[in-house]
Amino acid sequence: MAGPGTNIVDVAIIGAGFAGLSAAHALRDGGASIQVLEAQEQAGGRVKTIQHADGRAYEKGGQFYCTTMTNVCGLVEKYGLTRRDVRKLPGIVAMLGGKRKLLETDFLEHHFFEALFAAEPDLPGSLLDWVLTLGLDDDGVAMIKSGCEEVIGRPIEELSYRSVRDLLIKFDGFDNTMEFACVEGLGTLAGLMAKDLGAAFCANAPVTALDRKNGLFHLTTPSGTVTARKVIYAAGPAVLRQIDWKAPQDQWLKSHPDHFVAGHMIKIVLRYDSAFWLGSDYGWLGQTDNPSGLSVMDCSDPKGGLDALAVFCGGTAARAMAGLSEDQVLAKVLDIIEPMLGPKVRTPATVVQTNWTDHPWVGGGYDTWARPWETEDPWAPMQRAHDGLHFTCAELAPAFPGFIEGATRAGQEVAARVLHKI
Ligand SMILES: Cc1cc2nc3c(=O)[nH]c(=O)nc-3n(C[C@H](O)[C@H](O)[C@H](O)COP(=O)(O)OP(=O)(O)OC[C@H]3O[C@@H](n4cnc5c(N)ncnc54)[C@H](O)[C@@H]3O)c2cc1C
Repeated sequence: MAGPGTNIVDVAIIGAGFAGLSAAHALRDGGASIQVLEAQEQAGGRVKTIQHADGRAYEKGGQFYCTTMTNVCGLVEKYGLTRRDVRKLPGIVAMLGGKRKLLETDFLEHHFFEALFAAEPDLPGSLLDWVLTLGLDDDGVAMIKSGCEEVIGRPIEELSYRSVRDLLIKFDGFDNTMEFACVEGLGTLAGLMAKDLGAAFCANAPVTALDRKNGLFHLTTPSGTVTARKVIYAAGPAVLRQIDWKAPQDQWLKSHPDHFVAGHMIKIVLRYDSAFWLGSDYGWLGQTDNPSGLSVMDCSDPKGGLDALAVFCGGTAARAMAGLSEDQVLAKVLDIIEPMLGPKVRTPATVVQTNWTDHPWVGGGYDTWARPWETEDPWAPMQRAHDGLHFTCAELAPAFPGFIEGATRAGQEVAARVLHKI
């Protein structure tokens, strides 16, 4: 196994999610010597693929991408993986006040995002306060609240309008993020990118402390110390506390996580022997207001080979299931989605369930959000270098923040800044 050595590297990268991996590749290609230190046993972070006993690859985290996500498209192709389409038939089923309704509109896509792109940047109040100004009926508000809780992972009365808008406004430029998936899994892609780095990638190497002496960084891991001229911290601010920041100039990082909250999220993939819902009025999406934040999406391959639904329990829905066993969560979820899809939903051939809430190394899913702030946006200091210490993660992306594509772009961007200074 490659591991921390005694040599001094130009850049040490903490974290091998898509941001850290992309930074590593760009730095290596730019001629810098690097060492990537990943806490977990594999690369990928919030993207994780498992090989199931049924012979298929399942995505526990990030899964979907689209044509405008050009980096992800390019990487899937470069590493010889197989892109597949995702079925998205028209029609949304909503459970509202216990009644099943068919909706023609995806409220999130057509009301929330459209209005957000046209709205003022600095409105006071919570995201819910702003949604209530959109003039929607009760069903519309409930659907937006539930859809946002699924995407954001927090009840929308808990987050300021400004913190959400600042991030989501950079989403402009895609039509359908569910357009493609990868047959072998995007976690497999992360593994190949890590392998490509050779000895410069080190798994099972959590950085537990970081100090500075004589203009060099010293990173402590269980298997040794890495010394580097520069450091890129490539993980979300919610997990900054995993590191003991020892140098006087880094003390601000000890309290910085207080400014952020991570999303609550349970993802469950349900595979069936056939797509029994085809031909019914269920199109591609089911949503419920009770619990708010739960969505069920068709993630099948329209050409055959995989008939599956992905259930996302975000925000209130994830909180409602806190402390339950996987079997109890599954039973609850099946109770909730049966009225949308019918009794056959109770007999999946394969179930893959992952609870990302409070994950020790990524914080949660899908994103980390800034709490309401009074003066400086807490993301701002993470966009600057601090005497050779740089930050990157999907949330800091110049485009597609909070997405895998955003992570790749954020990683490339920080690498360009670091290379410029080497
Ligand atoms: C359930 C779920 C579904 C999603 N669906 C999609 C989707 O369909 N499409 C999409 O584009 N995006 C999706 N996302 C979001 C996407 O996965 C993330 O935005 C992206 O992967 C984040 O990449 P990152 O590199 O910024 O951070 P991360 O993936 O969080 O990577 C950070 C890495 O740093 C490591 N680390 C942290 N601290 C340390 C330390 N002290 N020492 C060493 N290593 C450390 C972590 O182990 C981790 O590997 C989803 C996320 C989740 C959770």
